[in-house]
Amino acid sequence: MAINTDKVLVTHAEIEAMLDRISAELNRDYKDTPLVVVGILTGAFIFTADLVRRLEMPVIIDFMQVSSYVGEYSTGELKIKKDMSCDIKDMDVLIVEDIIDTGRTLKLLKEQLLARGPKSLKICTAFDKPSRRVNDLVPDYNGITVPDEFIVGYGLDLDGRYRDFDDIRIVRKE
Ligand code: 5GP
Ligand code: MG
Repeated sequence: MAINTDKVLVTHAEIEAMLDRISAELNRDYKDTPLVVVGILTGAFIFTADLVRRLEMPVIIDFMQVSSYVGEYSTGELKIKKDMSCDIKDMDVLIVEDIIDTGRTLKLLKEQLLARGPKSLKICTAFDKPSRRVNDLVPDYNGITVPDEFIVGYGLDLDGRYRDFDDIRIVRKE
């Protein structure tokens, strides 16, 4: 089975426009308030890098690597593969994600991070696939809403590949 990534869903120019819009919203909402930006590895590494260079407030940049799975006795558990180094107690925190799909990962992550006592905790995602949601998770900042297709590029992968594309493409298996 061959993998075809010819179909462009979001162009690089559309991604740049999205970055300008989201960073303007963040600069307006947070003004000069110092912000802890937590990028979710690995998918959000490019979005995080592009976003923070457009932010005007002082930022502390950190990363976490997490995944969610449906356990034998639960509807969802969070596995923290790499925790952030920073103490977020009484800090304003922004989670930066590549894409929200079912919403399981971020719902669980949000609960765990809220238990650490941040002053505020908000979610910013580059892409959102709301048609797949299994809970009430809504991002505070959403870049581009996408249909129910498997997408790659701009940090998003298929088995580690295609993260380097500067646009978003739909994966077709032929
Ligand atoms: P969920 O919201 O279902 O808990 O999981 C979100 C994670 O699933 C994302 O961070 C991403 O790693 C992965 N994911 C969901 N949809 C896609 C997609 O269309 N393409 C890629 N490459 N990853 C996806
Ligand atoms: Mg991910």
